[in-house]
Amino acid sequence: MTGIDDLPIRDELRGKSPYGAPQLDVPVRLNTNENPYPLPEPLVARIAERVAEAARDLNRYPDRDAVELRTELARYLSRTAGLEVGVAQVWAANGSNEVLQQLLQTFGGPGRTAIGFEPSYSMHALISRGTGTGWISGPRNADFTIDVEAARKAIAEHRPDVVFITSPNNPTGTAVAAETVLALHDAAQAARSDAAGALVVVDEAYGEFSHRPSLLPLIEGRPRLVLSRTMSKAFGAAGLRLGYLAADPAVVDAVQLVRLPYHLSAVTQATALAALEHTDTLLGYVEALKAERDRLVSELRTIGCEVTDSDANFVQFGRFEDAHAAWQGLLDRGVLVRDNGVPGRLRVTAGTPAENDAFLDAVRELMKEKS
Ligand code: PMP
Repeated sequence: MTGIDDLPIRDELRGKSPYGAPQLDVPVRLNTNENPYPLPEPLVARIAERVAEAARDLNRYPDRDAVELRTELARYLSRTAGLEVGVAQVWAANGSNEVLQQLLQTFGGPGRTAIGFEPSYSMHALISRGTGTGWISGPRNADFTIDVEAARKAIAEHRPDVVFITSPNNPTGTAVAAETVLALHDAAQAARSDAAGALVVVDEAYGEFSHRPSLLPLIEGRPRLVLSRTMSKAFGAAGLRLGYLAADPAVVDAVQLVRLPYHLSAVTQATALAALEHTDTLLGYVEALKAERDRLVSELRTIGCEVTDSDANFVQFGRFEDAHAAWQGLLDRGVLVRDNGVPGRLRVTAGTPAENDAFLDAVRELMKEKS
């Protein structure tokens, strides 16, 4: 039998595993930070209508520049994220993972490096590897906030080309203060003042769930600061695969150099446009999820868990002597959460009130067993 490593694959991919959470058939699945609410029926009907319209033109390539969709995304950000942005400042791709990949293809690559502050979203390191970008693992404080002084030092020492700041952070749920973003942005530009500076990517995939306002206004006057967003979480459309960025128009022009022609299908564009017509309903679900997230934090603390403050649609909790055994204990009770490899901690996604109740009951049982 031929194995991967028998093939002439790139050396840096040898012996590595693909990204992915276990897909197990369990009654309560709270492991991938999905939105638990299916799209409302009127939106499903509208998607069918808009997709039917798009289908009549499927003999043609889609709008390569996705102008109508980017216009609506710009309108959404302008309305909800604290800064008026126009279509020239917004770019869209198949999930924010593709947005991040395009950014690394443009601003990273062989001979270049990217830094992130870990634990954080592991795809930042994986997409770096996939694009031949060197990865630097930066530090965090014990409470999972970014250690600004240590981060500044790491940036000065390694002079990265790309800096990732995830706010709210996955898997910890930690929001990053605007002052921290600015401090790291300025440190990154200073470290590379001999070149054309460094690109700072604020990954705000969970931005809509935060107690704090969006970091979008920080892009104003900072052409090397990019905000990345997704419709996978707040819009409840993980299956759609639609991510986007907001930045200086020059960044949008730059990613054109690496995007595949017609990368966003006409069906994707039509579906995303339909979802954006229903923004207010979908943001109503976000409010419900924020309340459930806050309930999970407080009930887990009452149970006796150590819980990290969360600004996302998930909660990091512990502390377990053996996090993997605790993960298995919850799974045995029909509840799937995520073991992200953070020592002593697990991560649970906020589900429906009934799912969260089932999860909390399972944790209570587990804790009772432990004591
Ligand atoms: N950024 C962060 C921090 C994430 O957690 C995720 C998804 N888990 C993504 C980006 C990518 O999401 P998508 O490609 O679905 O937009």
